[in-house]
Amino acid sequence: MQFKNNREFTRDLDQSDPLNKFRSQFLIPKHDGKEVIYLCGNSLGLQPKSVKTFLDQQLHNWENLAVEGWFEGETPWLYYHKEMQELMAPMVGALPAEVIPMNSLSVNLHLMMVSFYQPKGKRVKILMEASAFPSDQYIVESQLRFRGYDPATDIIEVHPQKGEHTLQTADIVSVINQHADEIALILFGGINFLSGQFFDLEAITIAGHAAGAIVGFDLAHAAGNVPLQLHNWNADFACWCTYKYLNSSPGGISGVFIHENHFSDPNLKRFAGWWGFQESSRFKMTKGFVPQNGAEGWQLSCSPILLMATHKASLVMFKEAGGMDAVREKSILLTSFLEFMIIEINEAYGEELFKIITPSNFNNRGAQLSLIAKKNGKETFDALVKRRIIGDWREPNAIRLSPAPLYNTFEEIFELGIQLKGIIKQLKHC
Ligand SMILES: *Cc1c(COP(=O)(O)O)cnc(C)c1O
Repeated sequence: MQFKNNREFTRDLDQSDPLNKFRSQFLIPKHDGKEVIYLCGNSLGLQPKSVKTFLDQQLHNWENLAVEGWFEGETPWLYYHKEMQELMAPMVGALPAEVIPMNSLSVNLHLMMVSFYQPKGKRVKILMEASAFPSDQYIVESQLRFRGYDPATDIIEVHPQKGEHTLQTADIVSVINQHADEIALILFGGINFLSGQFFDLEAITIAGHAAGAIVGFDLAHAAGNVPLQLHNWNADFACWCTYKYLNSSPGGISGVFIHENHFSDPNLKRFAGWWGFQESSRFKMTKGFVPQNGAEGWQLSCSPILLMATHKASLVMFKEAGGMDAVREKSILLTSFLEFMIIEINEAYGEELFKIITPSNFNNRGAQLSLIAKKNGKETFDALVKRRIIGDWREPNAIRLSPAPLYNTFEEIFELGIQLKGIIKQLKHC
């Protein structure tokens, strides 16, 4: 599409946007009585208005049924996760039995590593992207130490080429091939939190499997942002948080995917809890753990119903919007428009005031653009907040902006452009 830098153009786009009715279904924060332009869905998604209804329903059940709520009511808590599985599966391209909501992301990564990091002989190393999210780094380091290995030698990081901020798929595959007989596990992000790069997860899985490694993904920035095909790609496992693009509430419940190929593997170790026990005989409370078939068999504790309810509210909304394909269609346009506005600004000032380090090919990114500010980065960011534009800041000079297709508009991005120009003038960048 040929974009134009004018308000009328963006209003027309918003009017013809098939998802435009969803914005009014969210609670938009206000500064000084005016709605902010919220471009921080990569960190914490906004609250769907329907969350209150979904929560109220469960508070009502708790009030009126108490313990009987596990078995009674229109959504007995014992089976609540099964409805979640149906809603979650299409979001990541999985079978319902392959996904489960439980715990939080870092906890689930540890649990998955218990099952899927199985070092043996020379094959002990873990391959990940350089500058992975800190929690992922700490998880891998501590898992290695726990098993008696050395993070300094047993983590293989794939680095960008000199002067680049993103990884080439060919380089990732080449590092995998180079260490083919040493890699036990590949644990890669879906979308890097800093650069916004969406990795070729299918290519990584194919290369990893060819090398004889297990391949798992942290989809914190990918779930609810880009379409995924975990089942067809043959990923072994994946975990994601749901409070970023999936708007499930701060610290909301995490999602886990385990490929059905692993369901009946008797050699797979796992940390077990009663909620993962075979459902038909769970309450006989017998000795000796027998897992429920499927991802359900990895559950430890009884379901946190209130967290599931807030997540369900947002999943129902994604379904009503037509699922990830519909959301992605708008997302590509919206983020491309943001890119257009930033490039316009750079061109207007005749220098690259904001270098976009996120890939320019929309197939290699999600909703987020990461900008490196040439001058006055923090001052620019603070001035944006003063002007009611909420992005997020990473030291030393990165501003991340993530338009979320269910609640952001094209006109908001146009307004961001105007405000940014005002700030450049105010801070005397040039
Ligand atoms: C946001 C994020 C996390 C956060 O983990 P929590 O356990 O939910 O706090 C972990 N990994 C990545 C890649 C993230 O982007």
